[in-house]
Amino acid sequence: MGLDPSRAVAELEGLRELTGDADGAQRVAWTDTWERAREWLRGKAGGTGAEEEIDEAGNQWFTLRGRSERALLLGGHIDSVPNGGWLDGSLNVVAGLEVLRRIAADGAPPLTVRLVNWADEEGARFGRSLFGSSAAAGSMADQEELRSRRDADGIALPDALREHGVDLDRALEARRQLEGAAAYLELHIEQGPVLESMDLPLGVVLGTFGVERHLVTWRGQAAHAGSTPMDKRRDALAGAAKLALEIRPIAAEVGGGGVCTSGGVVCKPGIVTSVVETAEQLLDQRHLDAGELARLLALAREASERFAREEDVEVSWERIWSIEPIPFDGGLIELADEAVREVCGTSHRLPSGPLHDAAEVARAGVPTVMLFVQSLRGLSHTKLEDTKKEHLELSVLALDRLASKALAHYS
Ligand SMILES: [Zn+2]
Repeated sequence: MGLDPSRAVAELEGLRELTGDADGAQRVAWTDTWERAREWLRGKAGGTGAEEEIDEAGNQWFTLRGRSERALLLGGHIDSVPNGGWLDGSLNVVAGLEVLRRIAADGAPPLTVRLVNWADEEGARFGRSLFGSSAAAGSMADQEELRSRRDADGIALPDALREHGVDLDRALEARRQLEGAAAYLELHIEQGPVLESMDLPLGVVLGTFGVERHLVTWRGQAAHAGSTPMDKRRDALAGAAKLALEIRPIAAEVGGGGVCTSGGVVCKPGIVTSVVETAEQLLDQRHLDAGELARLLALAREASERFAREEDVEVSWERIWSIEPIPFDGGLIELADEAVREVCGTSHRLPSGPLHDAAEVARAGVPTVMLFVQSLRGLSHTKLEDTKKEHLELSVLALDRLASKALAHYS
């Protein structure tokens, strides 16, 4: 029985039917609908001969024994946000199932092959993303804080998890799952507009962006809008406004796909009859390269000091959040590029703005790569999320090619 990409697409449609409604996908983790989706997957995977295991963090594994204990991992997440899309996460679970079937039909593979359905990638119910993969990667360090988290109905996270067989205190024991992992592959919808704008079905993901988030506070002097001459003003908003525009040439100068966003400015006193005294500006900067991310930040800081002098105001910076870039494996990027070129002629390499389970696995030291398939209109986390059927089929084919190449490379 060979690979049948159209069967995978039909199964995705079946899953949508089973776990969605008129508002979209409803497979929120730690709910009955999510459990129904996991049961559905169990039923589908049964035919491959793979053994099922649910680990201490609630991740669902299907293991097809090969000639070696070393394992090739294929991973996705069947959970969705409320009123979510039909493909986010579930695409790789179902595509991976199809690849697992093909490999099982070919006889014992050189490496063990494991399909993982990560638990609670979205964090939709308790606001904590990448739950299962961060536990397996050993990077979960917020268990104390998780203990006190509650959902909108006041149900505590540990209680909700217990109903699905997970003991939060033991979640980190899922770490042993990545022992002996040779490589990790994840196919995902792009959730952005790049591939569609280039008219390409598939792309290879270089890694996930590093992020720097700051609150930039500008301080001037409130003064009467009527009586203060233009050259006597200390206008805090003027500094923020100059910076909001300056991040464009800074992003262009640094290049490499880096992006900068001034996502909001709050002005005080914020009335029409006063010069702005304080302007609190939110700045988000992202780049795939740690050095270039630092340069984006340094250039923005320098510019802000220049604008502060020009406008006779003060400026201060406070870091809100940051994460380092997580680059994927160079060798696997080459293999993925080959696989994509074989199935659709042209490949494109691009970074990922959103984080994915793959970032956690890569952080744990397992060679990792992702494939992106085009998202129509770049939409995701909505029932409008969609991808052309022929592109979905190509993506299953590309994942299969990549899995074959990785099996040959790592055995
Ligand atoms: Zn996802």
